[in-house]
Order: sequence, then structure tokens, then C-alpha cells
Amino acid sequence: MDRSKLYRRFRTLLIANRGEIACRVIRTARAMGLRTVAVYSEADREAMHVALADEAVLLGPARARDSYLNVERLIGAARKTGAEAVHPGYGFLSENAEFAQACFDAGLVFVGPTAAMMTAMGSKSGSKALMEKAGVPLVPGYHGEAQDDATLAKAAEKVGFPILVKASAGGGGRGMRIVRSVDELAPAIVSAKREAKAAFGDDRMLIEKYVDNPRHIEVQIVGDSHGNLLSLFERECTLQRRHQKVIEEAPSPTLNAAQRETVCAAARKAAGAVNYVGAGTIEFVSDGKDVFFIEMNTRLQVEHPVTELITGIDLVEWQLRVAFGEALPLKQDQIKLNGHAVEARVYAENPTKNFMPSVGKISTWRLPAETGGLRIDAGYREGDAVSPYYDAMLAKMIAWAPTREVAIERLNRGLEESDVRGIVSNIPFLSALMTHPKVRANAIDTGFIERELAVLTQAPPAPGELELCAAVAAVINNERQAAQADANSPWQTFGWMPVGRRQRNFTFRVGHGPEQKVVLNYGSGPSTLVIGERELAFAIAPRDGGFDLTLDGVKSSVAAVIDGHELYLRTRNGRFDLHWVDPFGGETEEQAGADKIAAPLPGTVVAVLAEEGAKLEKGAPILTLEVMKMEQTLRAPYAGVLKSIKCKVGDIVQEGIELAVVEPSGE
Ligand code: ADP
Ligand code: ADP
Ligand code: MG
Repeated sequence: MDRSKLYRRFRTLLIANRGEIACRVIRTARAMGLRTVAVYSEADREAMHVALADEAVLLGPARARDSYLNVERLIGAARKTGAEAVHPGYGFLSENAEFAQACFDAGLVFVGPTAAMMTAMGSKSGSKALMEKAGVPLVPGYHGEAQDDATLAKAAEKVGFPILVKASAGGGGRGMRIVRSVDELAPAIVSAKREAKAAFGDDRMLIEKYVDNPRHIEVQIVGDSHGNLLSLFERECTLQRRHQKVIEEAPSPTLNAAQRETVCAAARKAAGAVNYVGAGTIEFVSDGKDVFFIEMNTRLQVEHPVTELITGIDLVEWQLRVAFGEALPLKQDQIKLNGHAVEARVYAENPTKNFMPSVGKISTWRLPAETGGLRIDAGYREGDAVSPYYDAMLAKMIAWAPTREVAIERLNRGLEESDVRGIVSNIPFLSALMTHPKVRANAIDTGFIERELAVLTQAPPAPGELELCAAVAAVINNERQAAQADANSPWQTFGWMPVGRRQRNFTFRVGHGPEQKVVLNYGSGPSTLVIGERELAFAIAPRDGGFDLTLDGVKSSVAAVIDGHELYLRTRNGRFDLHWVDPFGGETEEQAGADKIAAPLPGTVVAVLAEEGAKLEKGAPILTLEVMKMEQTLRAPYAGVLKSIKCKVGDIVQEGIELAVVEPSGE
């Protein structure tokens, strides 16, 4: 086929994907002066990639089959917007030869290899047959056409247990089973086939020797349509969970220079076997000594940024230039390896609940600035919804440094400085991984995470003195800021301290743990916090996302998020989730006029719970206020009759305003 028909200059690019990779591609396309078109499903109307693109087209309902996987609608969206080219991202249709062909048939440039190359390399069996011919080392195994039970069983016996039963069409670690003995084989094949059929519509299996304690090493390659093919060093992606990468780094800390050259040469040979065009990855497993080809991914990979950071090459730019029909701008010996990069995949999932995906609205999204070697490729922003329809990866955090040790340190610091709330994220888990001594020492294999799960998902430490004081400080800081935001607040004139109060009691709890009390004393002198016998001087200075807390002469920064009664704090000791117990109950507050039923803080009346004229016991509920998203019920200070209610539901009331009058029954 005439390659000038396949690859030529274009000005408008449609990105057939969503999430971080759509945002990532848009960023470079825009920098190259291209017009960008996003596509989206009904679940993604407000998504970040839609906001970033110049134009956006609704594909259909949330279900991927009706939207991101619908070839006809994607081609239609390109037609409608005058897009001349399609970038498939990863996942979805990125390795689908029919889609690449459909793009070509519609006169669109497909940013990737040809349909024929994809077909040749797309199935694990087919590519292994090709690699065998090209002399690339393979894991011993069976990748033939015959799929009957007897053939597979015979192949397994020949290879020798343990083996891996693998879906030829597989991806994302699905359709794969480790089989350790002959009697496990038949049920493993049945279930792997069922999973593969459902996920890929194809249940052909291959059998491989299971490499014990393996490492995953892969090589980034890029080819152009002029016959040039380059390798851009390797990545190590051994930290996996269920055959899915979690942390990736480049270069591999396992290989020496000679081994590096060997694996890169093998990858060039593999891609050269199909005259590969575009960005692709040759994946290998390694027993620590030798590497064996397992598959090729004919697309950009999730972890491509680590390669970008050590080579200084923008892989999306190169993909687009190759798609324009240009020759690659560098020769093999001009590609230099500089420093070390590590990436962590940030997911909306709960590591303590078997990594169950977490859906909902992202109420807090605070990631550190992209400075000092840190890069963040995100697909979500504060306020975005994480829907149950797609992969739960939210962002990738990538750190570069001259050495592996420092890159890991920077990544960990970036993770520690990240606060994502509303959904559960795996950030603390990623942090635990990055601080694990065996990860730092590269003493790992692909089973590491599963083995160390208990350590990696350990419950956070119990809050200490610093955290309890920080919790009080967070409440005060929050009240102050709320008051400042409200110019009419009486706190504007009185400062943040309600007049007449001398003391305020705070009670906190972690989960169902014991209650812990802190007393805030304020009077004419400096305020103090009292925990048990200890009385501590303190000061608070607000800052972005929290405050500086000076406690007993030591200043440290605290990140804080308050959501109703739930306090989320990050101190130098880690992350803490505290529940603020009944903040207004049982306080020795309002020394002046303690009998008055008045708003203790500015708020909204959300319920009136007693009628005028009613006889009330001491402590009977009268009305409920909502104060800074927390409900507070005001109660009768003594037994009596409710003489009047001076507010109604919906009223916004200022601090100190009398809301009800109870006439004491004269006993
Ligand atoms: P990489 O090799 O780039 O790390 P992964 O195997 O982790 O890629 O997959 C990248 C993304 O694409 C993941 O979100 C994964 O769930 C998804 N994915 C991979 N293969 C397929 C496939 N065949 N069909 C649908 N989604 C896939
Ligand atoms: P996918 O298409 O799902 O990415 P791969 O063939 O790339 O499938 O395998 C995914 C992961 O499974 C690898 O990264 C590696 O950790 C593990 N794996 C694959 N093949 C083998 C093998 N023969 N021995 C040991 N582990 C393997
Ligand atoms: Mg793979």
C-alpha cells in the first residue's frame, strides 16, 4: 500500500479516548498548532478532556460499546467536525485493526500502525510465531492454532508446570491463569476462556512457561514510514497487581549496560519484523538473567511519560510527526539516556477493600505543582465525577531525578502532598509502596504487591497530640475563613472569637475508637490547648489547603479538609481521618447568657422541632441549625414551656441572635 495515502499532514485531530490520555494527547496536539476534537459519552459531558478540546462531539450513552467503542459513531464525529486524523490513545479501540482500517477507509489518518501491522502483532499467538521466525527469544510455550483440550493439556505437560494459560487476544491482565499442576489445568482453561470471551470476544488460548519470580521489562520503540526504527530504552514495570502495572520506571534498575543493549536490540528486531510504524512497546518477562518476549502493544502506553522524562522526547509529538509522514528527527546514537524517572498510577479504588473501584464526586483534588522534577498527567479535576463505566485511573504522577533514589523520594513526596477526597484513592497505598525498603532496593518481582499487601495497606497511626491540636486548629481556621468570607459576620468586628466564651470542648474519634478530648482555652492572654494534663500554647497561620500550626514553639504545616463532622488532616506524621463528635453538645460555652437559646455560630435554621406552648423537659430538642454543613440541635436549657420561636426554617441567622424563649417551670 502507498504509505503517502496512510500518513500525511493534517490540521485537525480527533482523540478517540477519554481521561488522562485524551488530555495528554490534546496538550501536545495543541502545542503543535493542531485543532483538537474530543468525543464523549453521556457520562462524560462535564469531563476534563471535553473542556480541554477545541470541539467536542457526544457519541452516545455511557456504556463504552455505545460510545468510545462505537466505530461508526467515532467516524461520524470525525466527519461532522472535519477532523482529518484520529489518535486512539490506549485501551478502547487503540489496538483494534478494524478501527484502524475503518479510519483509513473514511479517508482519515490513523495515528498508529497500519491495520495489517496490528493484525500481525495484535494477537499474542500470532506475534509469537513472527518473533520465533525473527529469532527473538520467547518464553517456552504453545501458541498454535489447535485449541482442543487434549492439545492444550499435552502442551502444558510438555512445557512443564507451573504454566500460564493466557488469552491470545488479552490485555489489561485479563484472561490469564497461573496453573501449578495438571489437575488445575482444565478448570483454569474454562474460566480463562470465559473471561476472554466476555472481555475480548475471542477465547483462543496460548500456554507459556510461568517464569518464577519474574520481572516485567519492556522497550519503547518508534518507527516511521521511511523505514527508520528506533528504540528509546526500556522501562521496568515489575510492581504489578493482578498482572496490571502499578509503578513503572525507566531505565530498569535491574539491567546493566550490556543487558540494556541486548534487550533493546531484541525489541528493534521484533518491531523490524513487521516494518513497524508508530509508537509501540515490546514486552518481555525476565527471570533476572535473560529476557523473553511476551507481547507487543501497538500503541502508546500508559507509562510512556517515564521514557519521555529520561530521553527528553515527547512521544505524542513523534507519533503525530510520523503520522504526518515525516522521518524521525533523530538517529539511534542521538538518543541519550538521562537520569531516572518513576511513575505511579493514581486510581479511584480502595486498597483495603480488595481495590474495589470507588465512584462519586471528587470533592477535593489537591496535587502538588509540577515543579522540581514532578509531572502530573491528570484526567480529572476538583468537582468531577468518577463514574462506574470506565477504568478508574484518575492521573499519573511521574518524578524525574538524576538518580533512582532521588526520583523515588520526589515521587513519594509528591504523593504525600496530594489530597484527593470524595472518592477513595490509592494514594496512601502508592506512598507505602514507594517507602517500602524492598522497593527502594529493587528487591522485587511481579508477586511483591500481593505478598506484601498487609504491610502496604496498614491502618494509619493513631492521632497523637499534634493531630488532636491540629484538629482543633482546623475547626478554628475553618470558622475564621467562613467568617471572613461573610462580610456581614459579627466575627468581622469581634475577631474569630465569640465574645463571652472562655472555653470550648472538642471531642474527636477515629472510626469506632475511643473518644479523645481537647479543651481550647481563650481569654485575655494567649490561647492554649489542653489535652489531659498538658497545656500547650499554639498559633495558627492559614495557608493554601490548610495552615501552619505552631505548637509548643514548633511550626509545622498541616493540610486540612473539613467535610461536615469529618476532618481530614495531613501532618508530618501522616494522614488522619478524624470524626468530630457532637461539636456543640456538652460545651461549657456561652458563660454569658447560657440560658439563652441563641445561634452559637452563624447558620441556617433547617428544622423546628417543638411547637410554641409545648412543655419541654430539660434537654428537649427545639430546633436544628446548620452551621458550616454541620447540624446542631439547640435544646431546652431547663424544664419549662416554649414561649416563642423567633425563626422559621430557612432563616439565615447570625451568631448570638436569640432564636427561641423558654419560660422555666418554677421548681
Ligand atoms: P499498558 O501496557 O499501557 O500499561 P495496560 O495493559 O495497563 O496498558 O492497559 C492500558 C489501559 O487499557 C487500561 O486501562 C486497560 O484496562 C485498558 N486495556 C488494555 N487492553 C484492553 C483491551 N483489549 N480492551 C479494553 N481495554 C483494554
Ligand atoms: P497483557 O496483555 O494483559 O498486558 P501480558 O502478556 O503482557 O498481558 O502479561 C501481563 C503480565 O503478566 C506481565 O507484565 C507479567 O507480569 C505477567 N506475565 C506474562 N507472561 C508471563 C510469564 N510467561 N511468566 C510470568 N509472568 C508472566
Ligand atoms: Mg502486556
